[in-house]
Amino acid sequence: MTTPTRPTLAVFKFASCDGCQLSLLDCEDELLAVVEHVDIVNFPEASRRMLPGPYDIALVEGSITTESDLDRIRTVREQSRYLICIGACATAGGLQALRNSADVEAFASTVYPHPEYLSSLANSMPIADAVTVDYELHGCPINKYQLLEVVLAFAAGRNPEIAEESVCME
Ligand code: SF4
Repeated sequence: MTTPTRPTLAVFKFASCDGCQLSLLDCEDELLAVVEHVDIVNFPEASRRMLPGPYDIALVEGSITTESDLDRIRTVREQSRYLICIGACATAGGLQALRNSADVEAFASTVYPHPEYLSSLANSMPIADAVTVDYELHGCPINKYQLLEVVLAFAAGRNPEIAEESVCME
């Protein structure tokens, strides 16, 4: 049975491989318990249901690499009561951040025949460099049981119970 007014949950992807957000689907049996406590209203990788904000909980995967990413994450922040970063891309910039100490234009012209059509920021930045973040869950990919704990904790209005060495509280 679902609770009458479940907090809404939305999942957002930025520069990433999808591995962390798919940890939610990987929960399989536990997913039924999740939907008893939250109403998943926006999860484009898993559902065509895409309701507009505001949202109670936003799970954000991926790093910020373009101006358009910056605009979008600011909108997500405005629309979300709690913004939770999931995975190394969102919390540290991910593999994309390897380019931060290199020449992006040189990379682009090596890989793409028409790099002039590309538009990107000089650095790949973690979400917390762009907006205020309420919680960070580390991992590449994240641990699905830790994700469950974080989602259920925020839905219940309590602090997640996860070993300190595996997370970073904001
Ligand atoms: Fe994929 Fe790892 Fe980034 Fe998660 S942190 S989206 S698993 S590359």
